[in-house]
Amino acid sequence: MTLEFVHQSSAQRVRFGAGRVVENIADEIAERGATRVMLIASTEEAGLAAPIIARISPVLVWDEVVQHVPIEVAVRARAAAVDAGIDLLISLGGGSATGLAKAIAMETRLPIVAVPTTYAGSEATNVWGLTEAARKTTGIDDAVLPSAVIYDAELTLTLPLGLSVASALNGIAHCVDSLWAPRANPINAALAGEGLRAIAAGAQAIVKDPVGLPGREEAQYGAYLAGVAFASAGSGMHHKICHVLGGTFSMPHAETHAVVLPYVTAFNVDSAPDAERRIADALGADDAVSGLQSLYAGLSAPTNLADLGLRETDIAEAVSIALPSIPPSNPRTVDAASLTSLLHAAWSGAPVTTVRG
Ligand code: NAD
Repeated sequence: MTLEFVHQSSAQRVRFGAGRVVENIADEIAERGATRVMLIASTEEAGLAAPIIARISPVLVWDEVVQHVPIEVAVRARAAAVDAGIDLLISLGGGSATGLAKAIAMETRLPIVAVPTTYAGSEATNVWGLTEAARKTTGIDDAVLPSAVIYDAELTLTLPLGLSVASALNGIAHCVDSLWAPRANPINAALAGEGLRAIAAGAQAIVKDPVGLPGREEAQYGAYLAGVAFASAGSGMHHKICHVLGGTFSMPHAETHAVVLPYVTAFNVDSAPDAERRIADALGADDAVSGLQSLYAGLSAPTNLADLGLRETDIAEAVSIALPSIPPSNPRTVDAASLTSLLHAAWSGAPVTTVRG
């Protein structure tokens, strides 16, 4: 077999350490000589933010954080950053807080230090997302890639168990989708395989011991690899579907990814034998679909889109918006009929079966 590909790495510093967040943020600020920090942290993360605020005295604390980054929120936050003469953005929270920092950086070119509290992985990507008039748009801009990421597993101890599981599966979705995304290559596939293994192991440990740190640390490590793999490979079929469900139907991000992933995997793997083997190996299973099924069963993962608020009558609109965005590089050809049937199955939580042929 010959190997021929182009791989792009992103420049980013990662500081990892449980209980180290305040020191690590202070070090980042000192190294950059930043004097006017904007801390983005929603009211739900106020408890996590308090010791950081006490140490670094940001000139602005922004707590309006909304999932999928509505454009109105981005516009308000950008104006506030400019008015306050900010020289460094620090985001503390899940993908929504990171996403708002990215929306500000898109316009202002301010650097970001991201402090993730979920396993969404946005901190490792140069991908931004904005929602306007019920349409979520995503794009790539190196200015939104956080220049530093600070992981502290203690920050994730407050993440409720159900959300911890869903967020970990969101990380796994980054790994799986990057195996057939438009810029998939052996380097991001290697990162995806190890990311998948680590997040699966981490999630299982979190379910066994939700207040233990080792599972949370392993999930964070895997979430970072997942984000790097996803940023490098691009958005595949799974992400294109979930963007529509999130942006147009306001579906909760992590849970939606968790539900859709086994159906997309079952749709693609028969046409993607290398990806199938990589997923199965990472999960220690005979095949990708049964590996995901037993992982999901052990985690009590969410199983259908109906419970998350999608109406059956929304499926036709979701298909019409998502279909044109699915990359032509997807291993199996997708048409309206197959996407409709996939979304119906995910909507009702029908048994996941590998599509053959
Ligand atoms: P989120 O950031 O919306 O957080 C979900 C909920 O959990 C919120 O209510 C939040 O306040 C709460 N929360 C977060 N951390 C907590 C903690 N440690 N303890 C207690 N509560 C906590 O959800 P998410 O799934 O992390 O991120 C979703 C958003 O991120 C979406 O908008 C998605 O599009 C975006 N995203 C972007 C990328 C990218 O590369 N651009 C990647 C992944 C996700």
